Amino acid sequence: MCGLEARYSSKRTVNWVGYKVHLTEICDEDSPHLITQVQTTIATQTDEEVVKPIHQSLEQKNLLPDEHLMDMGYTSSDNLISSQSDYRVRVIGPVRSEPSWQARNHPQFAAQNFQIDWNQQVAICPQGHQSRSWKPTLDRGGEGVIQIQFPSAACKNCATRTQCTRAKTDPRKLTIRAKEGYMALKNRRKEQDNPEFLKIYHKRAGIEGTLSQALRKSGLRQSRYLGLAKTHLQHILTAAALNLSRLDNWLNNIPLASTRYSRFSALKFKKG
Ligand code: SF4
Repeated sequence: MCGLEARYSSKRTVNWVGYKVHLTEICDEDSPHLITQVQTTIATQTDEEVVKPIHQSLEQKNLLPDEHLMDMGYTSSDNLISSQSDYRVRVIGPVRSEPSWQARNHPQFAAQNFQIDWNQQVAICPQGHQSRSWKPTLDRGGEGVIQIQFPSAACKNCATRTQCTRAKTDPRKLTIRAKEGYMALKNRRKEQDNPEFLKIYHKRAGIEGTLSQALRKSGLRQSRYLGLAKTHLQHILTAAALNLSRLDNWLNNIPLASTRYSRFSALKFKKG
């Protein structure tokens, strides 16, 4: 295998060719913050997709944590659920807001604000109308979703239609996660503004410091070799070097450097 595995990717304003690395570290206050898992992927693999392989690898080494702090890129509904059911790991991290234009401009018409009656398999819209159809299916990623449609007659004459749908004549349609995923996202959205949740999540900022240290001390941003396997080896050696340095500091009672905070945490703590 060779550099043919390298991929072009971009994230916000950063573009690169190559790979991605995901580091997992201990963040307990009474132990050295050792890196316990190193996951190297091609650059186009999403963060969501690495959660299962990371937990599988940690399980094989008997290193699974009770709680795993992760940023928004990793916290799909499927990962919130399956980490708990398959590995007994509670993933702690914020989830994305609903991306629809309704959620941005008219939040009361966002899918998450329609009432859902799971037993009757109906949704109730903000105008009090009951949905006409309820169709369970799978999305492109294979996750269970429900496609819901409201009655044409109700939507046609609705006074708030323009806030609810941009369709010219069709009624409002919703796609929501199947019950378990829907509830996981809904509960997390409620929970993620809670001070207790933020206090725990705050510790995730330590990994930003680790990445920064790996960039500065070991040139993590630059792959020294061709191919995924050798790049992964480089990442493991980098993690091993950081671990030795951290262990040495811990044994010599050298305190941890002060933590940098992610934009999400900083924003939340400023607000709080
Ligand atoms: S457009 Fe239809 S679904 Fe939306 S609020 Fe009006 S009646 Fe309800």
